[in-house]
Amino acid sequence: MPDIIHLLPDSIANQIAAGEVVQRPASAVKELLENSIDAGAKKIQLIIRDAGKQLIQIIDDGVGMSETDARMSLERHATSKIKNAEDLFRLRTMGFRGEALASIAAVSQMELRTRQSQNDLGTVIIVEGSEIKKQEPATSQVGTIILVKNLFYNIPARRNFLKGNPVEMKHIVDAFVQQALARPDLAFMLVHGDEVLFDVAPSKLSQRIVGLFGKGYQEQLAACQLETDLLKITGYVGRPESSKRTRGEQFLFVNNRFIRNNYLHHAVMNGFEGLLPEGSFPFYALFIELDPKHVDVNVHPTKTEIKFDDERSIYAYMRSAVKQALGAHNLSPTLDFSGDVNLMGKISDIQQQSHSQFYKEQTGEVPTRSAQNWEQLFEGLPVNRDDLKTERITEAEHNQVIRMESSINKGMEKPDTSEKILFQLQNKFIVREVSNGLMIINQQSAHERVLYDKFIRQLGQSKGVSQQALFPQTAEFSSSDFSLLMELEDELNALGFRFEVFGKTAILIQGLPIETTGQEKAVLEGLLEQFKANKQELQLPVRENLARSLAKRAALKTGQKLTSEQMSSLVAGLFSSSNPGFSPDGSTTFFIFETSKMEGYFSR
Ligand code: ADP
Ligand code: MG
Repeated sequence: MPDIIHLLPDSIANQIAAGEVVQRPASAVKELLENSIDAGAKKIQLIIRDAGKQLIQIIDDGVGMSETDARMSLERHATSKIKNAEDLFRLRTMGFRGEALASIAAVSQMELRTRQSQNDLGTVIIVEGSEIKKQEPATSQVGTIILVKNLFYNIPARRNFLKGNPVEMKHIVDAFVQQALARPDLAFMLVHGDEVLFDVAPSKLSQRIVGLFGKGYQEQLAACQLETDLLKITGYVGRPESSKRTRGEQFLFVNNRFIRNNYLHHAVMNGFEGLLPEGSFPFYALFIELDPKHVDVNVHPTKTEIKFDDERSIYAYMRSAVKQALGAHNLSPTLDFSGDVNLMGKISDIQQQSHSQFYKEQTGEVPTRSAQNWEQLFEGLPVNRDDLKTERITEAEHNQVIRMESSINKGMEKPDTSEKILFQLQNKFIVREVSNGLMIINQQSAHERVLYDKFIRQLGQSKGVSQQALFPQTAEFSSSDFSLLMELEDELNALGFRFEVFGKTAILIQGLPIETTGQEKAVLEGLLEQFKANKQELQLPVRENLARSLAKRAALKTGQKLTSEQMSSLVAGLFSSSNPGFSPDGSTTFFIFETSKMEGYFSR
């Protein structure tokens, strides 16, 4: 038998190692931020495109690297941070394994540009999938700029495994916030696309918290401070009343490194001693400082989990630090928000908005819009609240019945679509008066119907109206999607798409149907996805499928606010459509709450 064991080529070994270090764009972000911090940067800018799938760029003003170091930094197990095993127990840097850059370079197209202050020229290296494509002297500011493009471009399975942009972006924001909290003494900026999500100047921790989370946090922080022989604890906990129903704003740092540790989390919660509403989580940002020899960070490659040699003592100290903070009633005077800062200004409002919006979207952490709100409508009116409660149930039941009986299923006269006052209910329904009662229209289903009819017409005859892209976009597709695009080219043209072949599986998108919004590639991809799903589930004819898919993509969504002009034109469109009662996939578009039924509620 011949020998069959051989060593893996470096590029493959790197890819495998990368799997441990880089799971998603946010893991690369974390490593890059840590490197910039380790390099002594005072200002770190992070620029993200397409939730990090297309681009992660970091710009720091740290010490930079020499030509040789720049090249070495991309090798696995290459680090400037430890030399021997002893060093492992004295770690003060964030990184030390020398794996991050090699791993990221193995699974992306990377450009590294760096210069040290003593040199006039810096170095630029371009590397794709571990392969050095170019290294040469280059002009550069002092510090390091790294561009990570098309993460996982060479591992489609990984790339496909990534979640949608909001989810990936939330992970990135989390990673960013963790670092920005850990180092309030440094300036951080996070830009996504053309939106500045955060821009925070060096400040105290309290100001940093406000800068990242919004002004609302100003009043709710209680300072923690405890020092013993073993450790020092500093930071802030949120007041119990401001605690939230979801996790996500609990931050624990050990020697300025963000960590997760359920045991210590428990200690903090315990420190609140029954002050917390059931099932709620307080904000906290707590910093433990202790001699690194008591810490073993080497238990997990991404290093957010750590072990202590004396967990129990640390637990007890944490708990009592939190207790003391909450017991000290002088909550706000301990904070000093005196104002060098732009944090209080406009930017932080925007940040607060985008941040809390983010969390809302991601966690579904929206106040439950239940019965209470409904009752508020009656606030101040002489109504017996208990009666209201029972009434509410019957109303719900009635609604069911009304819906079933409503006359739409039996064929409808075309109502008079002019004049009558329209209003939007909860950004979901359009309500208008009709002769026999109140008509309630589902805006999304209605718009799908209107668009579907329009697209079918366009597919049948002339060309759809296209909006010309200002900058034509190239878009790469999988080969199966690309062939599908080619197959559908005529129909897509008729709908208003304009594109031409631009490479083996790429196209140049020059225009989109006027009805669509969003980024060119995303619109086409979304359409293809929908088309494929419909094809599989429903086996629709091509045109019917395309019209449906695009109608679904392009329709107004529930939650969108409409102007009264939009409402009138939608209602008019619906009632001149081929089938006003139903959306193309058969959902009801409206029903009528008949006056005769209403009268039932007021019977004397
Ligand atoms: P580690 O951080 O564990 O040492 P990395 O792969 O993250 O490993 O980085 C390798 C080396 O590259 C670092 O030890 C450091 O010397 C250098 N390096 C990485 N990023 C930067 C940066 N932004 N500025 C200066 N040097 C850097
Ligand atoms: Mg590192």
